[in-house]
Amino acid sequence: MENNLKIGWIGLGNMGNPMAGNLLKAGYPVTVYNRSREKETALIAAGAISVQNPAMVVANADIVFTMLSNDAAVKAVFEGPDGLLSKDLANQQGKLLIDMSTVAPATSRYLSTITQKQGLEFLEAPVSGSVKPAQDGTLLILVGGSPENYAKAKPLFDVLGKMSIFLGGPGFGSSAKLANNYLLGLHIQGLAEAVLFAQKNGISPENMLTIINEGALGNGLSKLKTSAILQEQFPAAFALKHLVKDLGLAKDAGLESKLSNPLINSFQQAYDQGLGEEDVMAIIKSINI
Ligand code: NAP
Repeated sequence: MENNLKIGWIGLGNMGNPMAGNLLKAGYPVTVYNRSREKETALIAAGAISVQNPAMVVANADIVFTMLSNDAAVKAVFEGPDGLLSKDLANQQGKLLIDMSTVAPATSRYLSTITQKQGLEFLEAPVSGSVKPAQDGTLLILVGGSPENYAKAKPLFDVLGKMSIFLGGPGFGSSAKLANNYLLGLHIQGLAEAVLFAQKNGISPENMLTIINEGALGNGLSKLKTSAILQEQFPAAFALKHLVKDLGLAKDAGLESKLSNPLINSFQQAYDQGLGEEDVMAIIKSINI
């Protein structure tokens, strides 16, 4: 299958790599750039074009995606030297930049403003779902921007995800994403505490996880994290450092509740203990019951 729309992709980490790969597999020509160039290798082998910096990605593409760690990374890629908006963009008018990273709603609004000032278009599209849904093209995509740009991007979202939801202007997608990740934090913390509490009273993690997963409390997340808990191995699917970032962004966006502050402190403590590069489920190693 061949598609004429030219795609650019910046940020080939745990999520960006399989997502860009799915667009390649769907027949789109994809130009890639990653700060650590070695992460481009597999995609180049699969047919992607590699360029030297983000400005060259815009020049080579109609629609450019960013999937980067955090607000500072996204701002650097948009505004930095050789960034997406760094060059004379007279020939690039109307091109669409789509940020899929999880950032503050205020950052999305800011990126939308500076992008439009230069005559380009912007959408935010953070995602729910981790590496496996990114590989399988079954992410849930939370969109903020204009309906016209959403319509333009929808066929690409249909490749990357099982569903995309248009939520309103820039900032709405990020707000929904932060609420979702607050619940993720509560689930992960709760799952870890329940398993450790049961173990303290002589119930094995195997038995406790079977009870949780076979009952009404079992969910996609508990099932997904079961093998990591049992094997006590936590390679990052969703790195703990990213959840620390997201909980901080949620607090900045107004999250203040009985559970939010203890939850934020718990993940911060795990991060301070050196668990930031491991999966969120590694929180279980830092909890004492
Ligand atoms: P990751 O594996 O840590 O990858 C981060 C990417 O950002 C890498 O390509 C990294 O480049 C790049 N980057 C970081 N700082 C940069 C800078 N200053 N300039 C240029 N590039 C920079 O992260 P991920 O797991 O793919 O997550 C990406 C985003 O999606 C995050 O906002 C995360 O919160 C969100 N998210 C993740 C998941 C998940 O399960 N992993 C799920 C939903 C949403 P280098 O390779 O050079 O370091």
